[in-house]
Amino acid sequence: MSTFTHHHVSCLACRAPFEIDLIKSMHITRLPEVRRDIVEGRSQRFACPRCGHLHDVVNRTIYTDFDHQQYIAVEPTLPADWREARALHERIFDESFTFGPPVAEELGLGMRRRLVFGFDALREKVRLWDADLDDRVVEWLKGVHQEALGLSPTDELWRLSAVLPGGHLMFARVTPPPIVGPETELIQRSQLLGHHTVLRDDYERGLRDVSRANQDFPWLADDWCVDLFATAPRGLTPPG
Ligand SMILES: [Zn+2]
Repeated sequence: MSTFTHHHVSCLACRAPFEIDLIKSMHITRLPEVRRDIVEGRSQRFACPRCGHLHDVVNRTIYTDFDHQQYIAVEPTLPADWREARALHERIFDESFTFGPPVAEELGLGMRRRLVFGFDALREKVRLWDADLDDRVVEWLKGVHQEALGLSPTDELWRLSAVLPGGHLMFARVTPPPIVGPETELIQRSQLLGHHTVLRDDYERGLRDVSRANQDFPWLADDWCVDLFATAPRGLTPPG
């Protein structure tokens, strides 16, 4: 089951108040329709009833899929220091699994754990695991291809938007979301800047030597937060 929380919010465009229900926790194993909404990008997206302005709505939630042994902690938006959120979620995980009853501990041992910021990031993780892709290699690919375009990892946010026939990866390039505290509930949607396609061969090359990801981008080494944009040092200058 999942639990919802009720919120009163104000439209960012016209200030009209309206009410929304947010997902508090998602045990996706029994909720295929919620999972489908996440993968298809319908989840946590609300239009203002007065002016129609579309908002991405974010809150702290935990996504668990016991069938696929996936545990994804979702923070609303990227805070000034992602490590604080990581410490919080490691503690929550330990309380639920590691220091829980033996059956929980065993369950926790097999879980793939991640921390993501925002529902687009959650969607990306679920999608790429569905496609049996290694997320560290995918993040490495973003960095390599951004460098080739003269971009630093924090200039744009790239999210996997589709796995094309032949296994080629298509990324959506969007404007970076604001860095704010966890109290924010309504945020302006990122603007789509374009798409970028990476060939399957490039992915295979990365997969043959996963350690390269950490060599090229040392901040990709974390075992909870595998996200080039979130963990890259801010203020890096673009290459060349
Ligand atoms: Zn409005």
